[in-house]
Amino acid sequence: MTSASAFPEQGIPWRTLEQELTAYQVGELPYERGIFERYWPAYPTEVYLAARSAQEMFAHTNLFSMNALPSLKRIERELREIVGGVLGVPETGAVSLTVGGTESNFLAVKAARRRGRMLGIERPNLVIPMTGHPSFDKAGDELGVEIRRVEVDAQYRAVPELMRAHSDENTILIAGSAPSYPQGVVDPVEELAAIAAERNTWMHVDACVGGFLLNSLREVDPSTPRFSFDVPGVWSVSADLHKFGFCLNGISSFSVRDRELQDFHTFTLPEHGWHYRGYQRVGFAGSRPGGTLAAAWATFRTMGRDGYVRSAASIHRSARRLAEGAAEIDGLRVDVPPEAGIVVVFAEPGLDLESVSAQMLARGWDVSTALTPPSLHILLSPYMEHVIDPFLHELREAVAEVRSTGARATTAFTYGD
Ligand SMILES: *Cc1c(COP(=O)(O)O)cnc(C)c1O
Repeated sequence: MTSASAFPEQGIPWRTLEQELTAYQVGELPYERGIFERYWPAYPTEVYLAARSAQEMFAHTNLFSMNALPSLKRIERELREIVGGVLGVPETGAVSLTVGGTESNFLAVKAARRRGRMLGIERPNLVIPMTGHPSFDKAGDELGVEIRRVEVDAQYRAVPELMRAHSDENTILIAGSAPSYPQGVVDPVEELAAIAAERNTWMHVDACVGGFLLNSLREVDPSTPRFSFDVPGVWSVSADLHKFGFCLNGISSFSVRDRELQDFHTFTLPEHGWHYRGYQRVGFAGSRPGGTLAAAWATFRTMGRDGYVRSAASIHRSARRLAEGAAEIDGLRVDVPPEAGIVVVFAEPGLDLESVSAQMLARGWDVSTALTPPSLHILLSPYMEHVIDPFLHELREAVAEVRSTGARATTAFTYGD
């Protein structure tokens, strides 16, 4: 791959580049409309400004050597305290900050595999529902752990009995999601943890989406399910700060109930293990931008607990309004009451949702779709209540249009496109 033009022979002043970048962005949907965000909610405005400023102040720093920088070390410690507080990590526990949920889930699989090896398990497997995130498959592939995916119930939740049936004495880890990304529902964590306890195996909760939403949501809606360390038998929790923590991208967390469990995901190269000095890390990444941490610190502190609860309340109202409104549209169904910031809308037979999505895009609304099973997949952002009614209006028209033409479309995007 050669690129003659992107890397100029002579440097170009920033003033020119800024204009070029602005031109690159022309025609892209403004992110502030939030409802279009497929994988992360949009940032509340004041938070975004604070986070950007903090990121800039620490743009030159590298978390790899934070010990050399007391300010960054302090930020890291305070951020771990904040995360530990939100997730209810016990006094005996530990929080590790990672670059993303993929790394967090990787650490869960790595730790469980190492523990499994200590117990003499040579051919490890892990058991997750069909709704679990692909980062488990990726970790399994890297670490030589067989992935057993188990069918879910009609409400898309893990079925404890089936999960038990798929586990055996070589099961090193059982995981559930809080919520799952595809249908946005929380797995029955308590029952799954009880099965893990029977098997003396590691119980992990992937709360990458809901880790910083569900506890705030519970203050608004007491029926919000429990998922974290307050559920007996949960050993570890992944929670992305860069999802409903509203932090700038590049930060997640992996927390364990007991500090000894952290040893299982810690890598150590002893003194004289190479030609320099000893080396030890709790996570996978080496260099990491310190600016991302400073931005996350600023985000939690500009939001405050109260800010998270107000965001959750807004998301809760939007979710209800969207689910009720979509269910009233001829041809659409909402089978699963939204639980955690994600609304999924199914179609009556014969209505092609890929075409509905294409119609919506033509109207300026980028709506994601899931293939298995077919649905519109909408991740909500706080303070987007004002766009729900216009959105529903367009959705009604888009569905009517597709129904009248019987259009069928195929879109070939993969998760992440
Ligand atoms: C987003 C997500 C992850 C991790 O994704 P990253 O992009 O690596 O942060 C893990 N699990 C679920 C359920 C997710 O939605």
